[in-house]
Amino acid sequence: MNDKDKKHLAIKKTLKIVGPIVAIAGLVFAIIGFVDFFGSMSDFGRPTKFWCFFVGFPLIAVGVGMTAWGFQREIASYSMRENAPVFNEAGKKIQPGVRAIADAVKNSDVRICPSCGSENDNDAAFCKKCGASLVKKCPSCGADLDADAQFCDKCGTKL
Ligand SMILES: [Zn+2]
Ligand SMILES: [Zn+2]
Repeated sequence: MNDKDKKHLAIKKTLKIVGPIVAIAGLVFAIIGFVDFFGSMSDFGRPTKFWCFFVGFPLIAVGVGMTAWGFQREIASYSMRENAPVFNEAGKKIQPGVRAIADAVKNSDVRICPSCGSENDNDAAFCKKCGASLVKKCPSCGADLDADAQFCDKCGTKL
């Protein structure tokens, strides 16, 4: 955050505090003026606090305006935060689908029997046609290898 943003934030913070205070003060002034005006009308006196009315209303307008301005960023970032989880949720919903497709592609890999050439399941240990072992073990390091491997992919021994 740079200094300009900090200053901006400080102004907004002040507005958020001062705005409501000004608005409430304006409301109080307006009520005083209002009550005094009608109170003086009923007993035919002269309204002495009628000026409060004219002070109060602009204060309410200014206070509300300041508050709205002060909360502008919150309102904007709130609506942004509201949208962000929607994107995240969509991402979470898409992810298993993508994974399922990836798994399907991986599972579509078949083991070709080195003896008879027939296709076997990816996780098959023996050929379903001829019974030949589909899993080779490296004679040097004992690593599990594909049946058609020419070299051990762990230690490089030629098979
Ligand atoms: Zn076979
Ligand atoms: Zn090996």
